[in-house]
Amino acid sequence: MDRDQLRQRLQFYQDLGFKQIYRRDATAIAEPVTAPVAALPDPLPTTNIEMAKLPDVSLPPMAPAGDSLLRIIEDIGDCHRCRLHEKRNKIVFGVGNEQAKLVFVGEGPGADEDAQGIPFVGRAGQLLTQMIEGTSKKEGIPLLRADVYICNVVKCRPPENRTPEADEMEICGQFLFRQLSAIQPKAICALGSTAAKALLGGKDGVTRLRGRWHKWRDIPLIVTYHPSYLLRPYNQDAKREAWEDLKKVLHFVYD
Ligand code: SF4
Repeated sequence: MDRDQLRQRLQFYQDLGFKQIYRRDATAIAEPVTAPVAALPDPLPTTNIEMAKLPDVSLPPMAPAGDSLLRIIEDIGDCHRCRLHEKRNKIVFGVGNEQAKLVFVGEGPGADEDAQGIPFVGRAGQLLTQMIEGTSKKEGIPLLRADVYICNVVKCRPPENRTPEADEMEICGQFLFRQLSAIQPKAICALGSTAAKALLGGKDGVTRLRGRWHKWRDIPLIVTYHPSYLLRPYNQDAKREAWEDLKKVLHFVYD
């Protein structure tokens, strides 16, 4: 990789919001390199980059024109880039229509998903399926779960179903961003605060973010509750609000 290519690639990651880049090392947990992308001059100069100061890293591929889900899966490989690889059984990449107009993004795999390698197949997943298919049927929209695309911020199950750490989200987020860039849906539905934070940044939770449109890059994005939150019996108001959010995004995409 020559100097211009390296500059373009670092600029690309900086544009995506990445502040650190990581060594691709299949034998060890990825460690942050000592010179984060954010430490580079902003804007990056077009000449005289101090190559000697840059760490010797193997950057993950950019999301070039023609990027595809298959290529992203190949790039993930037997991923050891973050500590979540340690206890996973299966990498849970995503499922659904690769040309979906609507993508749902959750937090991370649970036990059932980790065992099967498919997102949203446990109780929360069954509820999500009911929400998608039941709401669209009531609204007169012919839509099945298989017509949308479903994935998570992190592809490996966090131990004890804990919330993914910020560095895990940042490392694995590159694959989520590439998935969304490759699919180019008409809208995104972020399920829960973790997905919202990964896609929008900031610290606001679902209750502050839901009910209005946001954008991930230029793609309209709705935030709603994660189905696992809706499974709790005392969350009746949240269920009603989630159905409202879902109706809004379904009509926007499919009317
Ligand atoms: S969570 Fe993502 S980055 Fe971490 S090991 Fe799994 S696939 Fe790799």
